[in-house]
Amino acid sequence: MTSSATWAQEALLPADLGAGLLRADLGPGVVAGFTTRHGGVSPAPWSSLDLATSTGDEEARVRRNREQVGAWVGAPVAFATQVHGRTVLSLGAAERAEWQSVAAPLSAGEADGLVTAESGLGLGVLVADCVPVLLADPVARVVGAVHAGRRGVVLGVVDRAVEAMLARGARASDLRAAVGPAVCGACYEVPHALRDEVSAVVPETWATTDAGTPALDLPAGVLARLAAHGVPTTHVSRCTLTDPDLFSHRRATVAGEVTGRQAGVVVLA
Ligand SMILES: [Zn+2]
Repeated sequence: MTSSATWAQEALLPADLGAGLLRADLGPGVVAGFTTRHGGVSPAPWSSLDLATSTGDEEARVRRNREQVGAWVGAPVAFATQVHGRTVLSLGAAERAEWQSVAAPLSAGEADGLVTAESGLGLGVLVADCVPVLLADPVARVVGAVHAGRRGVVLGVVDRAVEAMLARGARASDLRAAVGPAVCGACYEVPHALRDEVSAVVPETWATTDAGTPALDLPAGVLARLAAHGVPTTHVSRCTLTDPDLFSHRRATVAGEVTGRQAGVVVLA
C-alpha cells in the first residue's frame, strides 16, 4: 500500500471500511471516522493500532499501522506534529503528492489542525484523551481535522479551524462536524484552579467528577464552540479513560505505563 497507483485504484465503499473504524457521517463524498486500538501490528503497551511516532513505538510499525488506516479510508493520511497550539495548516496538491509517494513523511509540520480541498489526501488527528474533531463541507468539498486538548480549547483551536475551513472555500451553512472519543467530564479530574481557568474561557467545560471533585468536560466545550458557529455536529461519546478499546494517556500514566494514539480521520473520496 505504498505507491500512488495503489491509492488511485482504491474505490472504497462504506462496507469496505475496516471494523476498527467508528464511522462518522459528514455527508456524501466524505469518508470519516475514528480509529480504536483494534487492528495494526504494534505490541503492548501500544497494542495494537498505534498511529503516533511520539509514543516510543517503532517507526516501521507506526507506518504499517497508518497504511492500514489509509487502506480503510481509501487514501494516505497526513498527520501533523501536534503542539497544543492553534495553528491550522492548509495542505494542497504538493502535499498530496508528497504523502502519496513511497517516501511519505511522518509529519506535515507543527500544527493542531489540518485542512484540505484535495481529494485523495486523508487528514488525521492523533489523540488519547484529547478531543478529535473532524470538519467537512461536502458541497464545496473541503475537510479538516483538529486536535482539541485542554490548552487548544483555551486557545480557541476549534474556532481557528472553522475559520480555516471558510478561508479554504467552505461555506458556513454547509459545514458539518464530528467529535470523537475523548476523556469525559465525569473522569477528567483537575485542580480547582485549573477548572476555574479553563471554564472562564469556555464555560461549558465546567464539570464535576462522579466523586464530586473538580473536572473539565472538554467534549462539551468543543461542542459548544461548534454550536456557536452553527455547525451541526455528531458526537461519538465514548470515554477514552474507561473504554478498554481506546487508548487513554491518563489511564496509562496512572498505571505507570506508556500507550499509543488513535486517530480521527477524514478524506474527500
Ligand atoms: Zn469517562
